[in-house]
This record gives sequence, structure tokens and C-alpha cells, in this order.
Amino acid sequence: MADDARPFRPEALPMKPILELTPEELPGEGYRKAQIAHWLYARGVREFSEMTDLPRGLREALAQEWRISEFALVEAYPSRDGSVKYLFTLLDGKKTEAVYMPYENRKTVCLSSMVGCPAGCTFCATGALGFGRNLTAAEILDQLLAIAYHQGISPREIRNVVLMGMGEPLLNLTNVLKAVRTMLHPKGLAMSPRRITLSTVGIPRGIYRLAEEDLGIRLALSLHAPDDETRKKIIPTAHRYPIAEIMEAVRAYYAKTKRRVTFEYTLLQGLNDHPWQARLLSRLLKGLSAHVNLIPFNPWPGAPVKGTPKAGILAFAEELKRQGIPTSVRFSRGQDVGAACGQLALRTPQALTFKPLPEDAGR
Ligand code: SAH
Ligand code: SF4
Repeated sequence: MADDARPFRPEALPMKPILELTPEELPGEGYRKAQIAHWLYARGVREFSEMTDLPRGLREALAQEWRISEFALVEAYPSRDGSVKYLFTLLDGKKTEAVYMPYENRKTVCLSSMVGCPAGCTFCATGALGFGRNLTAAEILDQLLAIAYHQGISPREIRNVVLMGMGEPLLNLTNVLKAVRTMLHPKGLAMSPRRITLSTVGIPRGIYRLAEEDLGIRLALSLHAPDDETRKKIIPTAHRYPIAEIMEAVRAYYAKTKRRVTFEYTLLQGLNDHPWQARLLSRLLKGLSAHVNLIPFNPWPGAPVKGTPKAGILAFAEELKRQGIPTSVRFSRGQDVGAACGQLALRTPQALTFKPLPEDAGR
């Protein structure tokens, strides 16, 4: 049997992941919990021995039972524009990635929710990798903590999170929500919900669940086409979920949260960049408090599609604006290190291989 068939069992690892706990659930009595939370989320230490205002005995006991870091290895790839791509080797040997973007005094991280992705969108390098596994809540949170540590800043200095890395967050919603709750918790990262954006390919039941949870985070929908026929050519999940069904869920999300929804649209030459598609898109979004984010295609080796040239992107944007749809163009950052959408992982073919832990690692 291939190693890959072995399921990931975080409980079989030597120590328990402390980042899975809410600040209330942290070990210790009374104010000890708040002290530990402060060390983890405000100071960003990665060893219990550094929690210097805890009695030595407690620090040692904590280190016997719990682990902070979820990564065997953290590799950083700086880009010329100031963003840094991080490649994380998880404790089971699988890999995932995140991007740090310290622009305009707004420190932002782009986090992954999975290793690879099962959705298989044709234009996406992560989709080409296939599905590795879901990330745990601890692994999602620790991407941010490890980046802050590497950057020498407090985790709380990172004020913006986008869940736009590897994976489809609404297909791993339980773990994503757990991580988001710690980001929002006043004793956790104390973030504002408006500064957390979850990007989805469009899974209606996940959007309804997110609306019910009512955490106040922002939703971005990867629409990429205004009609089902075009959408099915580039997004396999479009066969299961027609645009009308997704839009109904998005309207419910808006009705509940009153948060303006962003529609992401990557322009692909000859596929979704015709003027009629811009007009159809604006009809679809009329009356909704929507914002369109046009994304130039980020090329990757072997990609079966081509991006629309800049002039075409600007023309598409003009057409939308003429129809009264608020539109922005997100010219890519970090392209030279593939700091977008699964590209670094694609360049390292071992990304999805599974290194089993030694048998004696469990307890
Ligand atoms: N799975 C989620 C979140 C991760 S992808 C989703 O699909 O929304 C984040 C965004 O990048 C999505 O809008 C996705 O469609 C887009 N994207 C993926 N690969 C891209 C590429 N090569 N060039 C431009 N945009 C891409
Ligand atoms: Fe998955 Fe999003 Fe990539 Fe589609 S675009 S394959 S949903 S990560």
C-alpha cells in the first residue's frame, strides 16, 4: 500500500497541538490561561521555555504535554516587491504555503486551508496538484504565527488575513472556523472580523453555514464567469453548483451580515473576457452590494489557459464601470517567487509526498 493511503492522525503525534484550544481551554488555572494566551498570540513565542513568567515546573510540564509549532520546516522565499512566500513542511511531511504582504503599513497574510485542493480549477496551480488533506485549525493558525516569528513582529501586528492560499476553505469549514475564532478572540489575535476575508469557489451549503455563524468576516466569491456554460469549462464544481444557486446563498450571506461581497474574476484569454460577458456579469450583480476584483492570470508551467493581455483587462474593467459596477484590478504581487495560488508547491514536485512518522512517534 502506498504511504499516501495512510490517514493523517494528529493525535498520534508525540505532543498535543495547543493551538487547537480556545484561550479559555488553555491549560492552567485562573490567570495562567491568560498568561499563556499572551505568550502565544501577543508575544508569539514558539517554545514553552520562553514563557519566562511561568514557574519553571509548569513550563516543563507544558512542554511534556503540548506542542506549539505545527511545522517540521519553514522556508521563506522573498520576492522583489517585498512579499515573502512561505513553504511549510507539516509534521507528516506534507507541504502547504502562505504569503506575507507587508504593503502600505498593512501587514497581510494569505493563508492556506488545505494541502492541495480537490476542486481542480483548470487555471489554478493548486488545483493541478490534487487533494492532499485538510489542514487542522492549529496548522491554519500556525502559518500566521510562524510568519510573525520569522518577521520578528508580534502576531497581533498582522491585521489582515485572506484565506486565499491553497485549498477550498468551505470544504474544511469546521477547522477554518475554529482558527478564525481564535483570530477574533480578544485573548487570541484580537482581530477585527472585517479584516478577515474568506475566498470560496462557491459551495452553497458552506456559504449558508458561514452566514449562520455570523462572525462578520468578509466573503469573496471566485465567480470567474457570468454564465454556467463558461464557468463549467474552467471550474469543475460548476457542474454541481449552478451560478443561480450560489448567488442565492451569497444574497443570504449579505442579508444576514450586511457585508459587501467581493466577486473575483481572473481574466482568461478567449474564455471569459468578451465584452458580452462583462455586460452579463454586470446584469448578474445589479442591485447587489457587490465589488468586482479583476485578477490578471498568474501563469504557471503547464497551465492549459492563457491570461488576457493588460489592454483587454482594462477594457473589461471599463465595461463593468460603465454599467455601474464597482471594479478594481488586482495586479499581482510576488509573481517572481510564485507568491500566488499554489505555484511554489508546484515547483517542488515532492509537495504532496507523505513521509510517515516513525512508528514510535505515537503515544
Ligand atoms: N479556493 C478558494 C481560495 C483559494 S484561490 C477560491 O478558489 O476562491 C484564491 C483566488 O485565486 C481565487 O479567486 C482563484 O480563482 C484565484 N486563482 C487561482 N489560480 C490563479 C491564477 N493562476 N491566476 C490568477 N488567479 C488565480
Ligand atoms: Fe481550489 Fe480555489 Fe484553486 Fe479552484 S481556485 S482549485 S477552488 S484553490
